[in-house]
Amino acid sequence: MPIPATKYIWFNGKLVPWEKATVHVLSHALHYGSSVFEGVRAYETPRGPAIFRLRDHTRRLFDSAKVYRINLPYTEEQINHAQREVIAQNGLARGAYLRPVAFRGYGEIGVVPKIEPPVDVAIAAWEWARYLGAAEDEGVDVCVSSWQRVAPNTIPAMAKAGGNYLSSQLIGLEAKRLGFVEGIGLSADGTVSEGAGENLFLIKDGVVYTPGIAHSLLNGITRHTVMSLAKDSGLEVREMAIPREMLYLADELFFTGTATEVAAIRSVDGIQIGNGKRGPITQKLQAAYFALVQGKSPDKWGWLDYVDMNAPRAVVAG
Ligand code: PMP
Repeated sequence: MPIPATKYIWFNGKLVPWEKATVHVLSHALHYGSSVFEGVRAYETPRGPAIFRLRDHTRRLFDSAKVYRINLPYTEEQINHAQREVIAQNGLARGAYLRPVAFRGYGEIGVVPKIEPPVDVAIAAWEWARYLGAAEDEGVDVCVSSWQRVAPNTIPAMAKAGGNYLSSQLIGLEAKRLGFVEGIGLSADGTVSEGAGENLFLIKDGVVYTPGIAHSLLNGITRHTVMSLAKDSGLEVREMAIPREMLYLADELFFTGTATEVAAIRSVDGIQIGNGKRGPITQKLQAAYFALVQGKSPDKWGWLDYVDMNAPRAVVAG
């Protein structure tokens, strides 16, 4: 399904009509993968739409840019404000998925040109349902990919850069070709890393396990949220190296991600996990996650950034 277009995209400091937010085919990022981006969600809450962990996502965008020495010509506060503006000016009161992207644009060609190409920044938002579909509640069927994740000191997994998603495409394409909903990548050392676009959790004997950040994964914001919710409800959370077979022997397994939210996994490589349904701890953490993001439970960590839908209309560039 094509992206359901909204009216405006914030592009280099101005709101422009959706169809006019375009770039030159010789833009650096298109050839060399030099973009950094975020996936952020805004939810409808009883007090109006709120962007979940906006400041943390913006921080990660700047951190990703820092690794690649991409200098964003805006402050974090400007990018936060721009995201609120994109929600408000597009009337996305029912919530939305936000996609900020910053990239080396059109200038000199070459991997490391003498003159730095300009850095372009865009932010779009649209209504987007759950990434892995409704089956997320019953549990999805996944496989371990024959493609491993990027090795340490090759392409940094903690930076959310466009080029990283070549690894994700290989893992995801293989999984879909084999009839699975998603694929899991192993780290270079053979231990479990993450899904093509999600972090991974497992439950064994009431303990919550997830691979540590040295295992070639994105330091997911949903991962951190779910770890916080788990600890808050008295569960023990262990970050550690997870051998592949521990996936098959888990009582429960689930993915986390901004797009995916909290999605149960019911089988890996055709091996049933637990009783083959979403497990009770997954269900509890999923419910706690939705209550938090939808403003139905106390925002004890201050993670909801409310959007004023009646903010004055911004100037729109032609
Ligand atoms: N890993 C990868 C490779 C991802 O693309 C994502 C989605 N951004 C995640 C994990 C989950 O990260 P987050 O919870 O911050 O969305």
